[in-house]
This record gives sequence, structure tokens and C-alpha cells, in this order.
Amino acid sequence: MSVGVLALQGDFREHAEVLRSLGADVELVRRPEELARISGLVIPGGESSVMDKMARAFGLAEPLRAQIRAGLPVYGTCAGLIMLADSVLDAIRGQESLGGLDIAVRRNAFGSQTASFETDLDVPVLGATPVHAAFIRAPVVETVGPRARALATLADGRCVAVEQGNLLGTSFHPEITGEHRFHEYFLGTVARVGFRG
Ligand code: GLN
Repeated sequence: MSVGVLALQGDFREHAEVLRSLGADVELVRRPEELARISGLVIPGGESSVMDKMARAFGLAEPLRAQIRAGLPVYGTCAGLIMLADSVLDAIRGQESLGGLDIAVRRNAFGSQTASFETDLDVPVLGATPVHAAFIRAPVVETVGPRARALATLADGRCVAVEQGNLLGTSFHPEITGEHRFHEYFLGTVARVGFRG
């Protein structure tokens, strides 16, 4: 079994590279049949409204929702986090998410592309060394429901990383700052769960 990276749109190549560098067998996922071959999935950063349209057009959205309900481990970064949120604030008209995480995220919470920034975050589940995180037109987790738990917050207390069961999500992009611990942590979940579709 291998780990899939949703390759409809966004920075899927960067995720595939990080996962391969950690020894994973990577499968780029664009078609529903490819879901049967993966035991975990990364949803990259990009543009969630476009990713949503493409996922529906390619017939991937429904089978993916079913896999998530069945326990497929999924890690979403930025747009990928938006795809995993049960509720999306400031979505474009008609935009849907896959859901799974009991959270409400606000898109573009820090403003436009020019308001992108980098910062160091404490992420206790990854150890004492802070995570260097890049936020690019990033969402913020406005509400963390009772089934999800926050893994990291900004200095002002806003939540930017969450976990719920086999699902993991970050507002930022570890795949572009040389930070591999989130992917390592996720591969640990994938190995432990041993999901078969
Ligand atoms: N603003 C984008 C969205 O709404 C996310 C940006 C990103 O993934 N870097 O999907």
C-alpha cells in the first residue's frame, strides 16, 4: 500500500517529494479508482474552491467522503485543511468541503497574498523544537469542536493545526520550509491504522 497525494491542483509535487524522502511509496491521485490503492492521503495547499470543483468534476468528492468516514488517514495543508473542515467560512458561492474535521475554518483569514508570513510555532506533539511555518493566504481554525483538538496556536491564541482521529490539518505549509515532522507524524498514523479501502 502507498500514500496518496491529491494531485488535482496546488503544491502536490512538494508533498510527494517530502513523503518520498521519508521512504513512503507515493501515488498521485486524480481518479476515483486510484483511491483503492492508498492507505493514507495528503491534500495539498492551493485553492480550495478550485480543488473542490475539480474533485466533484472528476467524481472524487463522494468516494473520498466515504473513505474519510471509513477511517482513511488524511493530512491537509492550507487549502487541504479547508477541504477537511466540516464548516467553511468565507467560502465562495456553492463551495463544498469534504469534511471530517469538527472545525470551522475561515478562508484567507490573514488577508491577501501580500499578507503572507512565516513564524515559529510550538507544536508539543512534535517535540520541543519549534516548527518554522509559512502561511500563504492561509485559513485559520475559528472554532474547534469537541471532537477535534488543537495542536498549535499562534501567539494571539488562534488555532492553526488540528487533529481528530486519523485526520490532521495545518493552516500552514511544512512542505515548503523543509519541515518534515508533520509528514513523519502522519506516516506514523498511516502505519498504525493500516487502512484498506
Ligand atoms: N486561500 C486558499 C484557499 O482558500 C488557500 C491558500 C493555500 O493553500 N496556500 O483555498
